[in-house]
Order: sequence, then structure tokens, then C-alpha cells
Amino acid sequence: MKTVAEALHTILASIAAVDSERIHLGQARSRVLASDVCARRDVPPFRNSAMDGFALRHADLEADRATTLRVVATIGAGAAPDIRLDPGTAVAIMTGAIVPDDADTVVKVEDCRRDGESVVILTAPACGENIRQPGEDVRCGDVALAAPRELRAADIGLAASLGHAVLPVYRRPVVAILATGDELVELGEPLAPGQIANSNAYTLAAAVEEAGGVPRLLGIVGDTLAATRAAFTDALGADMVISTGGVSMGCFDVVREALTALGVEERFWKVAQKPGKPLSFGIHARVPVFGLPGNPVSSLVCFYLYVRPALRVMGGHPQPHLPVVRARLETAVRTAPTVTEFVRVSLQVRDGRWLARTTGSQGSGVLRSMSLCDGLAIATPGSGVLAAGTEIDVIRLAGPSVAQAPF
Ligand code: AMP
Ligand code: MG
Repeated sequence: MKTVAEALHTILASIAAVDSERIHLGQARSRVLASDVCARRDVPPFRNSAMDGFALRHADLEADRATTLRVVATIGAGAAPDIRLDPGTAVAIMTGAIVPDDADTVVKVEDCRRDGESVVILTAPACGENIRQPGEDVRCGDVALAAPRELRAADIGLAASLGHAVLPVYRRPVVAILATGDELVELGEPLAPGQIANSNAYTLAAAVEEAGGVPRLLGIVGDTLAATRAAFTDALGADMVISTGGVSMGCFDVVREALTALGVEERFWKVAQKPGKPLSFGIHARVPVFGLPGNPVSSLVCFYLYVRPALRVMGGHPQPHLPVVRARLETAVRTAPTVTEFVRVSLQVRDGRWLARTTGSQGSGVLRSMSLCDGLAIATPGSGVLAAGTEIDVIRLAGPSVAQAPF
């Protein structure tokens, strides 16, 4: 049986990034840039005013008293007038407007008093003040965005300011999702005795989307070898395949047998962990195939621990792993003796320290305690009973947002 670290290492050793595609900037948020974006132009493209005010020659200003200058024009943003500025004159200028060549300084409007055709400069700024130089932000030819990089709002804006309407990004890997189990029924169907709703498929589809993949739901597969084989044959056309259920020791657990029959090369089965021990992993013509356990928490924990990093590597993400914080347990926790246990905990920060508290029953079918958790505390084998106050690593699952505003 593999350890958690061995299992992850085995998986990542056989994963490569998918190819890239070119998409419109408007669709590029959260996508991973596949090659560098170079500046095709200077940003800003021309010398312009950083303020609404008056552009002037600094030499015209009196050192220690107000200076009156004649205003010869008004320049708005977007205008490109050819204006000469003689000594003793100024132009009214708006933020973003081209600064005339003869002007070397802009005085902001708050430091001036308009007086008919003239302006009185009340406070003299330093020479060059309030003028943005061409290329000050980005120079033509610079690498403005270095790949690989998950594109955020500011990156999209930067690319737009450089005139890139289309960006090269990694394709979003397509993930086929199969739910095995004779007991499963689709959403909206009534439950006959012994039946349950197929929740795993929806859990995993959401998790795939969160990780940047495209889920392809292939429905429910009955627990026969023939049906399972047929379903996987279809699934293997995707970039990655994940199934749930049918990988344990039960009489109807036929997933591994079906995969072997289809030529999927099993790399391991079972990991020394709780929940999620019966995980199987194999490869078929470079397509990774994850046989996740059927229990709802087990399958999602295995997703976060193994599928998510693999999917992110495939999607070109430079940071495939979830963040870990060191937290202090608020209550004692009894852990599994011989395997790594992942304990569902809620997290909060008090006095600058992370505090972790279990979210209730840790049964591998109890999705509610998974829903309530912010992270998975890692109890290494032999941890025994972890006393309240113990420091422990917690894998963070919940997003970075908080309820409290910073001001
Ligand atoms: P298995 O691994 O197939 O033995 O399933 C283990 C447990 O998970 C059983 O209680 C199943 O009913 C449950 N289970 C399996 N697949 C799903 C699913 N798609 N959604 C919800 N529960 C499931
Ligand atoms: Mg089953």
C-alpha cells in the first residue's frame, strides 16, 4: 500500500500539461497563460498629464510667489492638437491628455486659481511633476505577462492596454466523470427502497470546474463488468477520467477489472489514508484514470489530494497545490493508528493564529461535515489522540475571502 506522498508522486510523475489554444481576452480570466505576452507598444503610449490642471514651462514660475500665465488652449483626453507654448503661457489640460512638447510640468487644478483668460499658479511644483512618460509603465518589447500564469483582472487589463485581443492559454482539460453503483438514481428521480441520489457526480463536476477543468458527466453505470467496460470506453476519449465507487472489496466492485480489460495500466491501488483508502490510479494512452472510492467524503478528499493537483498540472497551472497553514487544535482529536488521517476542520484566525475545530462526525459518508469544513488537518500515522492545543498542518480548501472587511 502506498503512502500519501508516494501516491501523489506516482500520479504527478505521469502527468503532462495539455496543449494550448488562442482565446479572446474576454474569456481569459482564470485561464493559464501558455506563452509570454510581450508589449507591442509603450504604455502609456504618449507623454500625458496625470492630473486635471495646467501644463506650463517650469522656468516661467516665480520661486516664492504666485505666477500668472495666459491660458492659450484647453486640451482634453483624446485630443491631439498641435500647440506651441510661448513663454508666459499655459494650457488647461485634463487627465490623460497629451502634454504639449514645450510644457515640462503640470500643476494640478487645486493649486491654481482661474482668472478669466489667465491662471494664477498658487503653489509651484517641482519640474516634471504630474507628467506620465511614454513607456513608464511598460516598454515596447518588454515581457508584460510571463507564462505560465493564472490570469487575473489586472492581467487582462494590461494585455488589453497592449492591444492583445487574443491570448494563448492552456486548454481546459476535459474530465469524464462516471458514477458506478446499482443503488444510484439521477437527480429528480424518486428513490425506491435501497436507492440513493447520485451526489458524487455533481460534487466532482463542481470540484473539476473549481480546479479549471471541464467536467463531462457520463451518468450512472450499473455494477456489471459489461456496463462498466462500455462506460469507460466512452470516457477514455477525455483528457482525464474519474469514476466513483466499485473499487473496494465488495462482490460488485468491478471497476478495476473493467479498467484492466480495457488496457488501463494500474499504477497503484490503495493508499494508507483515511478516508479514501481504496483509491486506484492508472494510465491509458497518457490519459490518467482515477478510480475514486464511492463514499462521498472519500471521493472528494481523494479529489483534493490527488486529482486536483494532477488536473492543475495538466491545465498548466504553476501552483498546482492547495495551501497549508499551521493551526492549533481547539479540541482533542482521536486519529487512525496506522494511516494518515485527514480530519475535517473549520478554521478561524484569532490574535493572528489559526485555530482548527472538527466539524462533526468524521465518517467517510458524512458529506455534511465536509460541507462545513474549511480544511483537512493532516494527522500523520501514529498521531494517536491529538490533545487540544496541538499544532497541526491544515490543507485549506475554502476560498480566500473573509466575512469581515479590513476597514
Ligand atoms: P462503493 O465504493 O461502490 O462500495 O460505495 C461506497 C458507498 O458510497 C456506498 O454507500 C455507496 O452507496 C456510496 N456511493 C457510491 N457512489 C455514490 C454516488 N455516486 N453518490 C453518492 N454515494 C455514492
Ligand atoms: Mg458501489
